Amino acid sequence: MKFTKQIPKFLAASHLGSLGRQLRFAGFDCLIMEENSTNPDSPTLPLEEGRYFLTRSCRSFPKKLEKQTLRLRSTNLEEQMLETAMNIELRETFAPYTRCTLCNIPLKKISPDEAKSLLPDRIFFTHSDFRRCPTCQRIYWKGDHYNRMMKRWKYIFEEISKGGENQLDFSEKAR
Ligand SMILES: [Zn+2]
Repeated sequence: MKFTKQIPKFLAASHLGSLGRQLRFAGFDCLIMEENSTNPDSPTLPLEEGRYFLTRSCRSFPKKLEKQTLRLRSTNLEEQMLETAMNIELRETFAPYTRCTLCNIPLKKISPDEAKSLLPDRIFFTHSDFRRCPTCQRIYWKGDHYNRMMKRWKYIFEEISKGGENQLDFSEKAR
């Protein structure tokens, strides 16, 4: 299965919340299903909004939904990222540091003056390019967390470039 679309959007099953937050960090619009969603096995959003549905469930869905479903095999986060990126083109539209990982809302830049008034000096004076989520008001800067996330994605994209799709077999790896 190989999907190609402009900027992919996602709906992640509740058991793929970490993956969903990684995708948000990478700039993608990714909704994450509620833990106790009343009908978690037959989501309608993918069809309504043209989202890819990410799940580890083996349940089969109606044909239309099936077409937009990517079933992940691994329970490991990095492998899940890799599985996703192997099946859906993410590199071309990768836009890290543009979306709140908690709210799925695009971040807004804030001025240095504003950042200075809101952040401890040790953060303000050692970083630049501060952004804020207009919903939860959380402030972002390119610190350790950012670096860790970037490193992960870089690794994923490198694996894809050198590995190709057929060299990585998660089912083998999982055994
Ligand atoms: Zn937020």
